[in-house]
Amino acid sequence: MEIPEDLVGGHLAIDFSNCVNRFKKMDYTERTQFLLAWSVRSGTLSPEAAEGLAEMAHRHPEAEQEVAHRTLDLAQAGRALLQAAAGGQPPPAEPLAVVNRELAAALPHLALRSEEPGFTWTWDENGAGLERALWPVARAMGELLASDSLSRVKECASDTCSWVFLDSSRNRCRRWCDMSSCGNREKARRHRVARRAPTSGRVKSNP
Ligand SMILES: [Zn+2]
Repeated sequence: MEIPEDLVGGHLAIDFSNCVNRFKKMDYTERTQFLLAWSVRSGTLSPEAAEGLAEMAHRHPEAEQEVAHRTLDLAQAGRALLQAAAGGQPPPAEPLAVVNRELAAALPHLALRSEEPGFTWTWDENGAGLERALWPVARAMGELLASDSLSRVKECASDTCSWVFLDSSRNRCRRWCDMSSCGNREKARRHRVARRAPTSGRVKSNP
């Protein structure tokens, strides 16, 4: 199956949650390496910071294992809460507890930095370990779940895809997580079904 591009959800928390099936297939080291590379791609870690954390993970396998575990837990929790929201279901309790645990771990590190002409949110990285990569995700998850945007969260309409996305279209008509993969695949499938359907009336010369 063609995998959609991984930053198509329209929100950091959604993109992270969409990684859940990939995380499940990875061992601890692969998962933390993927998390760091993904964080650089999504702009939550600088390449230098990610490199430093990768070295740290190498030196502290126990910490790596713990963060790998929490990474999968948070992605699963996010997926469960977002799918429930998309389906109009009440939020499941355990996933919400996981997100709250990660928020409690992340938010004490939130800090303000002066940036002319005002301030910007940043993270105090003093003494930060590998879990630093999860802080922005936990914060994004909390912000999305507590925002009006939650009503725009949808699940991909493809039968073979369970990704979620934020429908930012004005008339809320987006159906697929990624037009270039799921959207096109679905169009091709419908085209094949239409071609197989018995035709009434004129017989095509090139069936
Ligand atoms: Zn999809």
